[in-house]
Amino acid sequence: MATNSIDEGKNWLAVLNASLVPIIITRLDNGEVLFLNAKAGKFFGRPVSKVLGDRYPYLYENLREQTKIIGRVIKNGSVEGLEVKMKIGRNEPFWALISVTRIMFGGYDCLLTSFMDISEQKATENKLLSQAGTDVLTGICNRRCFDGTAKKEVQRARRHKKSLSGAMFDIDWFKKVNDTYGHLAGDMVLKHIAKVTESCLREIDSFARVGGEEFAILLPDTDIEGALKVAERIRKKIEASEVVFSEQVIKVTVSIGVSQLLAEDGESFLSLFERADEALYRAKRNGRNQVEAQQN
Ligand code: GH3
Ligand code: MG
Ligand code: MG
Repeated sequence: MATNSIDEGKNWLAVLNASLVPIIITRLDNGEVLFLNAKAGKFFGRPVSKVLGDRYPYLYENLREQTKIIGRVIKNGSVEGLEVKMKIGRNEPFWALISVTRIMFGGYDCLLTSFMDISEQKATENKLLSQAGTDVLTGICNRRCFDGTAKKEVQRARRHKKSLSGAMFDIDWFKKVNDTYGHLAGDMVLKHIAKVTESCLREIDSFARVGGEEFAILLPDTDIEGALKVAERIRKKIEASEVVFSEQVIKVTVSIGVSQLLAEDGESFLSLFERADEALYRAKRNGRNQVEAQQN
């Protein structure tokens, strides 16, 4: 049972209505919207009177998250200061800081949801993270951080006369994944691929998302045979794995190109990855879901 209680008196509603914070009150048992203030109405893009009476309005981007939040409120009485992606009605998703409290309202056990749109703060945070070298979606390195590491590794390999290999890979038919399951599912696949690949690499390897659905790997102390083995392990592991999105099973494959640094020729990391990229496109032309090595 809720411990807080708001009666339906006009004064309370006036206070809630005057609030700068969007507020929505829904019944816990059937999800019916009993109250929303003017600020919240704006997010629905519909007049307040039209939203009242809606059952289980769509508030969050991820329905499973919605269920989880409600579960936590039922258990603890409230959740406070949670960062979550909201998606109200058919509107675009946005980052929000939310608080949900269980209250009695008009004699019903209810949830009072208040939130702040923090999209701008999130965008700034993401920009800073990205500038700092992290790919915001997958949490792995971005191109900027990868290029810095690659430059140093090339110098190190040359100085210590060690082998160094690179790999480039690209998801096969990824446009189809977005077209069939939606962009969010595509994003989830990208995160999954990053995780699976990371699990195949050593501490000393570098791994980055260098384009939309293109990834690069740098393998110190590894010759082309070793690089081929690692690439094949990654290809197989991705092929055998799956992503479940909204109860749909998504499977993807990748094509990989590998190359070894020509240290004695003073080759740069850019040229090393250009050759890996050429091999990758050969893998694509040859039918995808395969590994190709540089041609000498
Ligand atoms: P191919 O086998 O030739 O690689 O076919 P493909 O469909 O994967 O073609 P391509 O590599 O050109 O497709 C890139 C697609 O990746 C297009 C774009 O919509 C999608 N993409 C790029 N970045 C992102 C992202 O951050 N999230 C999602 N969901 N999709 C992305
Ligand atoms: Mg591509
Ligand atoms: Mg692709």
